Amino acid sequence: MRFALVNDTRSGASPGLIGSCPGCAQPMIAKCGTQKVWHWAHRGERNCDPWWEPETPWHRSWKDQFPSGWQEVIQRDETGEKHIADVRTELGLVIEFQHSYIPAKEMAAREAFHQNMVWVVDGARLKRDHPRFLQGQSSYRSTFLRDVFITYSPEGCFPSAWLNCSMPVFFDFERVGTSNKVSGTNRDRLWCLLPGRADGQAIVTSVSQCGFIRAARERAHIIPSRAIVEMIAARLRHDRAVAEQYTPHWFYAYPLRQKQSSRPFRRRRRSRY
Ligand SMILES: [Zn+2]
Repeated sequence: MRFALVNDTRSGASPGLIGSCPGCAQPMIAKCGTQKVWHWAHRGERNCDPWWEPETPWHRSWKDQFPSGWQEVIQRDETGEKHIADVRTELGLVIEFQHSYIPAKEMAAREAFHQNMVWVVDGARLKRDHPRFLQGQSSYRSTFLRDVFITYSPEGCFPSAWLNCSMPVFFDFERVGTSNKVSGTNRDRLWCLLPGRADGQAIVTSVSQCGFIRAARERAHIIPSRAIVEMIAARLRHDRAVAEQYTPHWFYAYPLRQKQSSRPFRRRRRSRY
């Protein structure tokens, strides 16, 4: 963790400091090596939040975009269950920065626990993630909303583990804000897969890093995802209805032949002899 309590004050780790965990009050040790970012760790293997993942420079650089009081905020639900939100804004929006793979069950549990949250996923974790995304963009079709696209094949763009979230997932393919950016690209954009589908199609949008941070600071929701999905679904239904109304009757009266005749098969057999 980034912060522990030292004499009742939230403090970052520095050599020789002794602190206590703001979540469970157990003693914490300042880890100030050269391999990992400086952090606090519980004694031994224990960690009071099973959802906690070790921090990378990518996590830190993202969290640093927000005031320290919004970082590592302990959240409790009515049953007393307790978890640490990476960032929780003044307006109650939780932002979880995720580098490692997480099982679908834990993903759903975290979404249900935080309720109003978005994921920011390290899109450059695996070597194939960014090339697949660039290739998959060819399947996008524009919509009547600016920077909003639809696609039948989101699996061709995004890691499969993130396809069925119930919260918006922002993919950081460019490693925005970190020194190890993906080379050759300098667009500083996050790509967001919205939850749900419109008429069977996934909805994708993009936002700049600045736009994301500004929205997170000023609004309780970064993106009105449900409204966008409903609007696009309504438009696609409307377009289909119009197309059906104006399709000439002969189109349906003479459907294309589904099965080709068996002639090629017979020809092939004959040729054997
Ligand atoms: Zn603890």
